This record gives sequence, C-alpha cells and structure tokens, in this order.
Amino acid sequence: MTPLLSVHCLSKTFHDGTLPVVNGLSFEVAEGELFALLGPSGCGKTTALRLIAGFMRPDRGSITVDGRVLADERTFVPPEKRGIGFVFQDYALFPHLTVAQNVAFGLKRGKRSERDARVDEVLKLVGLEGLEARFPHALSGGQQQRVALARALAPRPRLLLLDEPFSNLDALFRNEMRERVRAILKAEGVTAVLVTHDQEEALLFADRLAVMQSGRLDQIGTPEEIYLTPRTLFVAQFLGQTNLVLTQAHGLEADSVFGPLQLHRKAEGPVLVSIRPEHFAIARTPEHTDAMEATVLSRAFRGHDITYRVQVGPVDCLVHTHNREPFAPGDTVYVRAVEPAVVLDKAGA
Ligand code: ATP
Repeated sequence: MTPLLSVHCLSKTFHDGTLPVVNGLSFEVAEGELFALLGPSGCGKTTALRLIAGFMRPDRGSITVDGRVLADERTFVPPEKRGIGFVFQDYALFPHLTVAQNVAFGLKRGKRSERDARVDEVLKLVGLEGLEARFPHALSGGQQQRVALARALAPRPRLLLLDEPFSNLDALFRNEMRERVRAILKAEGVTAVLVTHDQEEALLFADRLAVMQSGRLDQIGTPEEIYLTPRTLFVAQFLGQTNLVLTQAHGLEADSVFGPLQLHRKAEGPVLVSIRPEHFAIARTPEHTDAMEATVLSRAFRGHDITYRVQVGPVDCLVHTHNREPFAPGDTVYVRAVEPAVVLDKAGA
C-alpha cells in the first residue's frame, strides 16, 4: 500500500544559520494514521511541519501526498493548493469573525447551503454546537482549540498537521482534549502529523512516532517500540527515566554490576544498556539467586507507584514498584532485572 504522506531526505538551512535545521528527514505516514514528531525544543520539528504545509521551500528532498509531488527540486505547490489542514499552537483564529465564520473560512467553494451544513457538522463533531455566533475572545482556551480544529477539518483535508495544539491548555484539561481530538480524528479517518515536545503526549496520541534530535530522526516506531526498545541513548533518556549500565556483552547475555543480565539482542564486548526503573524488581529478601544486594538511598511516593533510588555496589539506580511494602533509606534490599536490558547503539553507529 502506498503511504498517504511520504517525506524523503528533506533538508532546510536558514540563511542566518550554518547547520541544517532539518537534516535529511525521511518518513512515511499511512492513510488514517496518527503520526507524531517528538523532540526537544529547537530540534526542527515545527520547521519540518511548515515544510510539509508549504509555508517554506525545502533546500533538498521531496514531499508527496497521495502520490502527488508537492515539493521536490522541480516542484513547489503553494500551501493553499496542497489540501492540507493546519492547527497552529496559538490556534490563530480570526478575532473579528464569529465561530461559524472562522470555521467557514476555508470553505470557499460549493453552495451556501452546503457550506452551512458542513460548518454545522464539524461544530457538532467537536462539541461546539450553540456557540456559532460567539467571537473567539469569549471562548475558553479549549473551546478556541476546538474551533481551530473544526476550521482545519471543515474542507476535509487529505492530511492534517497539528503544531503543539495542546500546549496552551492546563494539565488536566490537556489530557481530556488529547483523548477527545484523537477520537474525533479516528472517527473521521483523518491522517495527521502532530508535533510535540511532550513524551507522554506523543505516546498517548500517536499510532507511530518519530523521535527527532538536531534536525534528524533517531528512531521511528510504535509508542511501545520506542519506549521499550530505544535504539539510542538520546531516545532512551528522552522517553522517560532509565538506568544506563555499562556491560560486557557476550551474545544474549552480559556481565554487569547487577550480575548477569539478559540482553534484548545479541552484542559483543563493552555495550551500554538501558533498563527502565519498572523493569527492576525490589524485595526485602533475596528471593531469587540472581538478585543483587542493595541499599535504599531515597524513596519518592508518587501515588500510583513508588520510586526508590538504591545503591548497588558502586552505582545507584532507580526502581519503580507498585509494591506497598515500604522500604526506608538505609534498608538492605535485593534488586534484579525482570526484563531483558536494551542494548543501545554505540554513539555515531
Ligand atoms: P519548539 O518546540 O521550541 O518550537 P522546534 O523543534 O519546533 O522547537 P523549530 O521551530 O523548527 O524547532 O526551530 C529549529 C531551529 O531553527 C531553531 O534554532 C530556530 O531558532 C531556527 N529557526 C526557526 N525558524 C527560523 C527562521 N525563519 N529563520 C531562522 N531560523 C529559524
């Protein structure tokens, strides 16, 4: 099956910079898929999104939507001819237009009655019926965001681009809106690319995601693949807390300060591995022969789990547990890895 969006070797350098902000980016998004570009501030993700939208020209590479080349070395289709919807971080609503007029803005073609019907339809979809005559200043942040989404969806775009659309909402409401927007896009079968610096958001929202660093993609995969089997040190650290351990590998096993470890793939010689804190078990007694004696350094109760920092030999590590048995700093405990350690690529490999 051909992908709906295909980005190939996309690069962009700004005139006042020497390094490319987007550097050889390649990825594909299938029809109906929700895809996220995840990376720290300044890694080039908004620039990548703006290149896809056609707000700027790439220096190199190509962008194809539904088999139609939108940009390559010979072609540049302007944004209004791309059939792509865009939801901006600040929503960019027209302050002098009502909700209904904002949503109708992109619907220039067709009969008036059909346009009105489509405005009603998308406002209902995003749960804003009854607010048609309001102006943006009289709406909450979440309502404004839904108007922006309705406006982008109204012309039935082949592809929807969302630039940090939830970052202006408070934490509790953000979760609700993410779920709501995700459900709307899935119900409509919309193909979308979301840009975010928020790991949890990317994991919750996307069917697949790409982790971006300094203009390049480090890894593309499902949320589970990216979180559970990070390929690089950067991905391992960016996707949440992890323990990094230098080991001596021989095939699917390695010697480490934690004793022998199982590895998720074969390796030889010195390798850095990542073990998520929840992939360690902690107990008061040495229930397993491979458990290592450790000393509790600190304890952080976080409601749904507890994070212990423990010292194992010369290193300390983080262990998450749902276990209600409370350990206190100074206690002797026994830890062991209960999942294979993830072998990270050597830097530059
Ligand atoms: P954020 O999450 O902070 O928005 P980002 O990953 O989306 O970051 P971009 O907005 O794509 O990053 O910016 C990447 C780099 O390119 C930054 O260093 C930024 O200063 C620079 N940049 C962006 N737009 C321009 C421009 N029009 N001219 C010059 N430099 C730019």
